[in-house]
Amino acid sequence: MILFKKAEDLYNYIADQQKKGKKAGFVPTMGALHEGHLSLIRQAGLENDLTVCSIFVNPTQFNDPADFDKYPITLEKDIAMLTGAGCHLLFLPSVAEMYPDGIKARMHYDLGFLETRLEGPFRPGHFQGVCMVVHRLLEIVHPDNLYLGQKDFQQCMVITRLTEIMGINDKTTIRICPTLRESDGLAMSSRNMRLSGQERQTAPVIYRTLLYIKNNIQPGDITGLQQKAVTDLELAGFRVDYADIADANTLAPVTNWDGRQPLVALVAAFLNEVRLIDNLLLS
Ligand code: AMP
Repeated sequence: MILFKKAEDLYNYIADQQKKGKKAGFVPTMGALHEGHLSLIRQAGLENDLTVCSIFVNPTQFNDPADFDKYPITLEKDIAMLTGAGCHLLFLPSVAEMYPDGIKARMHYDLGFLETRLEGPFRPGHFQGVCMVVHRLLEIVHPDNLYLGQKDFQQCMVITRLTEIMGINDKTTIRICPTLRESDGLAMSSRNMRLSGQERQTAPVIYRTLLYIKNNIQPGDITGLQQKAVTDLELAGFRVDYADIADANTLAPVTNWDGRQPLVALVAAFLNEVRLIDNLLLS
């Protein structure tokens, strides 16, 4: 695996390979890697000649500075894992390399309705920060395929919109990969390592709540099911930001289901200091 710290070097290397007809698959991450990340790397390996990963803990997407400060960093282990998974290129930029004009020099991305839903109101500025970093990364890596995890469902929709705003949606194909889970159903996440023993025991209640919704949803009024999800999570000890059922294509809220509309259930909830998110397609 070749490590790059300079954007220009990586840009040129990939451009050279693409000129020779090679395809590049890109997996952007914030490090503290786990099997979920590696599943994206492996999928990229199956579909491309060149697998590119970036590790960059992006300061502009953290609305809570304490969350940024506590974000786990396990670089040596990450490098070993990426090598084992067959990653070819790793981009490890500094903040200055990513944002030569400073982190305050921001453009506004018109995400419309998407930004008003779910994570939007609870994490003001978060998706603007995500767009800022992914915009820059896509300009540097200019991949043929971009690999994202369904774990961050709304983020997948935001980044799809970003590629439209950038006018590269015909050049870079977005590939959404399934959420990898621990054996008890907890979605793998870099934040899981911040859970205490007791919190780790409670955390799979999120997945069980999502499964309950999936197994019990019926056409008609679904607000009772959504309310029950909030109550079950609170009873287990979570502080719930949202437990919602939405249209899987638009994220518009759904209160009355016709039995055909594609739905997704999404949860964001705190166990003490640690905020966990998860989702499940219902149809
Ligand atoms: P992060 O490092 O959290 O920014 O995640 C980097 C990429 O890995 C994003 O596209 C995530 O959606 C994806 N990802 C994170 N957790 C999982 C998981 N449990 N299963 C599959 N993909 C994941």
